[in-house]
Amino acid sequence: MQSAPQFQVVNGQLIGARQVPSPNYNQRPEHTEIQLIVIHNISLPPSQFGGGYIEQFFQNQLDWSLHPYFQTIEGMQVSTHLLILRTGEVLQFVNFNDRAWHAGRSTYLSKVECNDYSIGIELEGSDDTDFEAIQYQTLVDVVATLQTAYPKTDHHIAGHSDIAPSRKTDPGPHFQWQEFRQQLSLRKANRT
Ligand SMILES: [Zn+2]
Repeated sequence: MQSAPQFQVVNGQLIGARQVPSPNYNQRPEHTEIQLIVIHNISLPPSQFGGGYIEQFFQNQLDWSLHPYFQTIEGMQVSTHLLILRTGEVLQFVNFNDRAWHAGRSTYLSKVECNDYSIGIELEGSDDTDFEAIQYQTLVDVVATLQTAYPKTDHHIAGHSDIAPSRKTDPGPHFQWQEFRQQLSLRKANRT
């Protein structure tokens, strides 16, 4: 039996995640319930892993001079609620009660501005690389925890490419939706 990390949501914080506060957030609109989970991928530089640059990027602390690609994103102020590294470690940048800046212009089931009512989860990865098994395991644990805390997200998980199809391709063709959904159903069925 694998020993899965145990996560818990307390006051909008994911216990079990490393807290790395980002300044890139604001308030959700009043009376907005969390209704959607959005899955992304990100790597900095693209398709290179490790190095801590994603963390620095979401904290507005990335040194743009370190890589030519970084200059193409210079000054961008974005964030996510959660980032799952290749190692399976989970970082939280924005409290779930607040609005992270991950989706951009987007629409889900005819509702625009997904940032208002969603939780963003970035997987360290790219459109041309398989994700790690530990990332799927961790994602399943985290999403099952979030769906308990925020029941309206129960059947509402989308890729960034689903909510912004003309602009975005992530989480990309290597993200195994079917396997992920199967693992998630199993995990929820086995919850005590
Ligand atoms: Zn994305």
